[in-house]
Amino acid sequence: PVVTRIAPSPTGFMHVGTARTALFNWLYARGRGGKFLLRVEDTDRARSTPEATEAIVKGLRWLGLDWDGDAVSQSDRADRHAEVARAMLDTGAAYKCFATQEEIEAYREAARAEGRSTLYRSPWRDADPADHPDAPYVIRVKAPLDGETVIDDQVQGRVTVRNDQLDDMIVLRSDGTPTYMLAVVVDDHDMGVTHVIRGDDHLNNTARQGLVYDAMGWDRPVYAHIPLIHGEDGKKLSKRHGALGVEEYVAMGYPAEAMRNYLARLGWAHGDDEVFTTEQALDWFDLSGIGKSPARLDFKKLDHVSGQHIARMEDDALLSAIASWRAAAELPPLSPEDRDRLASALPIIKGSARKLPDLLDKAQFAMARRPIVAEPKAAKALDAVSIGILSELTPQLQNASWERDTLEAIAGRIVEARGLGLGKIAAPLRAALAGKTATPSVFDMMIVLGREETLARIDDAAS
Ligand code: GLU
Repeated sequence: PVVTRIAPSPTGFMHVGTARTALFNWLYARGRGGKFLLRVEDTDRARSTPEATEAIVKGLRWLGLDWDGDAVSQSDRADRHAEVARAMLDTGAAYKCFATQEEIEAYREAARAEGRSTLYRSPWRDADPADHPDAPYVIRVKAPLDGETVIDDQVQGRVTVRNDQLDDMIVLRSDGTPTYMLAVVVDDHDMGVTHVIRGDDHLNNTARQGLVYDAMGWDRPVYAHIPLIHGEDGKKLSKRHGALGVEEYVAMGYPAEAMRNYLARLGWAHGDDEVFTTEQALDWFDLSGIGKSPARLDFKKLDHVSGQHIARMEDDALLSAIASWRAAAELPPLSPEDRDRLASALPIIKGSARKLPDLLDKAQFAMARRPIVAEPKAAKALDAVSIGILSELTPQLQNASWERDTLEAIAGRIVEARGLGLGKIAAPLRAALAGKTATPSVFDMMIVLGREETLARIDDAAS
């Protein structure tokens, strides 16, 4: 069975790149009846914060990426990591290195001066334990000096690294704490991880981490190193490209389902499919669909995908998405009455929104209470001629059947008789019903408002 994981370092907020990596791992595992695990890589105690862990957990929950079992905290497993380092020592796959920082510096300096590789080669590698001093030491893994390490990466293809490029990396520090390079391997092994899908910035680490797998005689997982996300200018994503943290996307009002769709498409493709459900993504997701070149974060595309999802979402799902967006944006919840009014407008507005807050803008007319005070720009449409037109319209609305086509036909006949265009009645109606110049279609608004409210608003405006 497939076991994947997301292993974020809790040193900041939840980056969209982490969210994308989590999504890929989740899709891969869940689409195959496998497990998806969460491991918080907090070995760097100085940089890790509980707030950052909280942001990761919140981001994953919001995206709907549920993990199996409890989140594993890497720092809780330090004893186990040390145990593996000692086991490597026992088999001779690792050794104690007593070199001081000064000695290592001196080695590097000499190597630089002589034009040799500055990869540190410890004199303790082949020392007789009988000659070991009683001094602090680190444990280093013994890297092979010849041959090569091959990674059959599912995205990058076959990657070959000459072993003489690999250093005898430190696995246990002199204070007995494990390095990240050791912890990640031990944890992936112990947690039964079968597939490691992660950013290609880790590709170099993979060759080095292979030393631990080999030393312990463990099978390596399948690797898929995915290109990092770039900004629209093709440069590595950074703050100046816009939002980096998942919470910013939540606050902007993208629905989680749309975000899953968009993030899935960042670096992965299934034919020409752009807009799809999570169920479809679970069905389709495969490592072979991941591209080799970096995907670009494109807000226009995100808006488009988001709009398509909003248009397809059930009204109830939209209302609860709006409620959680308001909570995330620290806005008060809607009153039950506002909620009902918003719900009444959804059918006519959801086809043209991009983000959840757009729905509130577009539903403004339905949520507003009489008397509607028209904005100055909208009020201009309420001139004497227009008011005359409205007063001709009113009696006809009393008995008309309340359907969009009928209402439009009535309004059309009135302006036509005066040789005017439909705008001459639509603009004052818009001002009367919504008080704004940018609104949904006036006839749609009339349907949502109903006969009584429509007539009352026209009456308010005309008097
Ligand atoms: N903790 C690493 C990071 O946040 C992830 C390492 C991995 O996925 O193996 O970059």
